Amino acid sequence: MPRPIQALIHPDALAHNLARARACAPGAKVWAVVKANAYGHGIERAYPGLQGADGFALLDLAEAERIRALGWRGPILLLEGCFEPRDLEVCSRLNIWHVVHCNEQIDWLATHKTTWPHRVFLKLNTGMNRLGFTPGAFRTAWMRLSGLTQVDEISLITHFSDADTDTGIEHQVAAFNAATEGLPGERSLANSAAVLRFAAARPDVRGDWVRPGILVYGSSPDFPVRTIADWNLRPAMTLRSRVIGVQQLQPGDTVGYGSTFRADARTRIGVVACGYADGYPRHCGTGTPVLVDGVRTRLVGRVSMDMITVDLTPVPQAGLGSEVTLWGHGPRGSLLPIDEVAQAAGTVGYELMCAVAPRVPVAVQELQSD
Ligand SMILES: *Cc1c(COP(=O)(O)O)cnc(C)c1O
Repeated sequence: MPRPIQALIHPDALAHNLARARACAPGAKVWAVVKANAYGHGIERAYPGLQGADGFALLDLAEAERIRALGWRGPILLLEGCFEPRDLEVCSRLNIWHVVHCNEQIDWLATHKTTWPHRVFLKLNTGMNRLGFTPGAFRTAWMRLSGLTQVDEISLITHFSDADTDTGIEHQVAAFNAATEGLPGERSLANSAAVLRFAAARPDVRGDWVRPGILVYGSSPDFPVRTIADWNLRPAMTLRSRVIGVQQLQPGDTVGYGSTFRADARTRIGVVACGYADGYPRHCGTGTPVLVDGVRTRLVGRVSMDMITVDLTPVPQAGLGSEVTLWGHGPRGSLLPIDEVAQAAGTVGYELMCAVAPRVPVAVQELQSD
């Protein structure tokens, strides 16, 4: 028997979350952002749940080719554009739209030989200061692109730095509206946080295309202010394992490396086949939530490479073989949002779902409609 750890991908949860994005941005088209192998879910496994999207946005040409290989004939957008001139040949061959964020990418287009002109998304830097033309250089870039026979349609795109916080997006939306005023072309601004928090009330935030990523996978972009329950999102990934050993601690006994947990009473401990080599964050300490047989309890002691230890006190019937939910959906409708585990590790759900290790077997599982 293989180690009992397993990741489950839930296509119906993906479809539900995608529908939530659509409902928040009425009239806008939806890019399902599937970079980083669909945020760790696996492009091929996620695809059936995401086929209702209007397009797929990603970073890597190899990932774009995988989407085309699945039979997707609709839009695909390279969010960072091309990395070298030769990438344009793949874009021509597979009809892939690409972001243009710097002058070099325009130079490459200008010398590219193609039968079909490209659809590009010209990126405006509205304050994130990662990629994109400054407002002062934007129109010149637009004019250059519009003069190229290699370019068909020019769309306009920017990215928010603070859509999930109190800082918000007003300053960036204002910069975008000012810099793009009067320019033709479709617009795309909103990531998950902007979709959930602002898109419904703001046509200029919705634009023509929204770009939800994390919400599609069932993590709340502004946790802990709002949870997935508040946003009506469903985890698209479950990480689960089993109890492979039980220890009875006496008062004063410790557990694991560094003896960081000391029992102050008789305590039953479950040893779970899941460690940091599976992608479970080593920074999770005593108190990190975990479900055993669907009952919420806590991790105790240090996370080791292949095991964690959990307090079985709230689940006296649990023992060898009991099901353990590290995050996602547990037995009998129980739920442990990945955001709570991420918070315990001082990080975000994004990082955890992207970090599930290759040694963890992955299966696809429809959720029971309970
Ligand atoms: C990753 C990414 C998104 C999606 O962000 P989420 O916070 O996951 O919704 C949208 N746009 C761009 C340009 C991105 O790189």
